[in-house]
Amino acid sequence: MKYISTRGGISPVSFKEAVMMGLATDGGLLLPESIPSVSAKTVEGWRGLNYQDLAHEILSLFVDDIPADDLRDLIESSYRNFNHPEITPTVKVGEVFVLELFHGPTLAFKDVALQFLGNVFEYLLQESGSKMNILGATSGDTGSAAIYGVRGKKGINIFILHPHKRVSRIQERQMTTVIDPNVFNIAFRGTFDDGQAIVKSIFNDIPFKDKYHLGAINSINWARIVAQIVYYIYAALRVIGDTGAGKVDFSVPTGNFGDIFAGYLARRLTPRLIGNLVLATNENDLLSRFVLNGEYAVGSVVQTSSPSMDIQVASNFERYLYYLHEGNQKKVAGDLKIFAETGSLKFDPAQQEKIRKVFLSRSISEEETLATISSFDRDGYLLDPHTAVGVRAGLDFKKEGTPMICLATAHPAKFGDAVLRATGHEPDLPASLADLANRDARCEVMDAKAETVRDFVSSHALK
Ligand SMILES: *Cc1c(COP(=O)(O)O)cnc(C)c1O
Repeated sequence: MKYISTRGGISPVSFKEAVMMGLATDGGLLLPESIPSVSAKTVEGWRGLNYQDLAHEILSLFVDDIPADDLRDLIESSYRNFNHPEITPTVKVGEVFVLELFHGPTLAFKDVALQFLGNVFEYLLQESGSKMNILGATSGDTGSAAIYGVRGKKGINIFILHPHKRVSRIQERQMTTVIDPNVFNIAFRGTFDDGQAIVKSIFNDIPFKDKYHLGAINSINWARIVAQIVYYIYAALRVIGDTGAGKVDFSVPTGNFGDIFAGYLARRLTPRLIGNLVLATNENDLLSRFVLNGEYAVGSVVQTSSPSMDIQVASNFERYLYYLHEGNQKKVAGDLKIFAETGSLKFDPAQQEKIRKVFLSRSISEEETLATISSFDRDGYLLDPHTAVGVRAGLDFKKEGTPMICLATAHPAKFGDAVLRATGHEPDLPASLADLANRDARCEVMDAKAETVRDFVSSHALK
């Protein structure tokens, strides 16, 4: 399988090259040259497989330059740190099914992809004898999942910036208590935007970037998307097996469009299993407006109780745009140019029809989010606020006879404040994190200056 850029400006690359490239060198995003076709018989054969075996089958469709045994080892070690034998179990709660994606080491769905990406990075670096220094800024969640993805890995150092005293206590502890020698937490005195600006300016210093082999861990790496396809198909097979239903629908709490895009690919691979995808947003309704009105237009960000979905532009949207334009890369590049100039894109009625054949959408208010947490709590199941957004939208679109599988993207304990506000009680930390407050921690506190951060990185980087 070769990979191409959504904008058509690179010659096809292999899976390994796609992973190391991250963002395509023409500024576009990488996608497989074609979507593999999977026969009904093959899907039938997937039914009884455990998570790791299914992951191996699906990843093998997209990865042909890593030997099968090595790929299997990478998958095994990626899911060894999960706290549930099923990795991503599905449970029936009231009218819906909840696909629990939070059994990984940082209790968020990002672990599913970042545990895999960390292992793939290490494998490829070992093979080529090179090194990598990962640099990123976080407002909380992605940082800890990235740190856990690469802690202790050979050939990789990671530097994660977070705004000092401006992330939640549990988020701060999750990051700073990872004291492996290859992990560097930097708390800077400033806001999250300052952190992003610092990272951006360091990446823009090309000689520095090249000298220290700087790499990023963000949601646009193809390896993350492909790892996320697995749980859609796994859950669909389980729920169809248990209920005898023909198809299932999914509801996905959405921010950067990475997770639901993996769902879109899962649907393309197994159209007999998957019906509609409900794109659930919080009050940052950019993507809901896209589905409902055919307009993709930036607004301003509002803060909600589901901060991982408080976004202004959706970094993976361009990948869907490629399929909406039926692989016409000129049209994709043209649209992005218009978007960069005007801040908005408008889609015609035929395109809108195509979008709404797959996606349903609703934007969920803060009030509805908290009310959903509280009503599920009365039935004995705690939802985190991101999951609650997806569950609320999922209930609205549930069809008789079609199971609605709602993705649970974070453990409620990660967003204890919102849960407390909704229910009057705070969720318990799971056993794996019960001693978080007492662990040793390591963190460098510094001013929000690009020079200071750059000096720190250069003196601690792997060379
Ligand atoms: C990142 C994240 C999301 C949004 O996922 P996207 O792939 O950005 O759409 C939803 N919920 C939680 C808890 C997250 O961390």
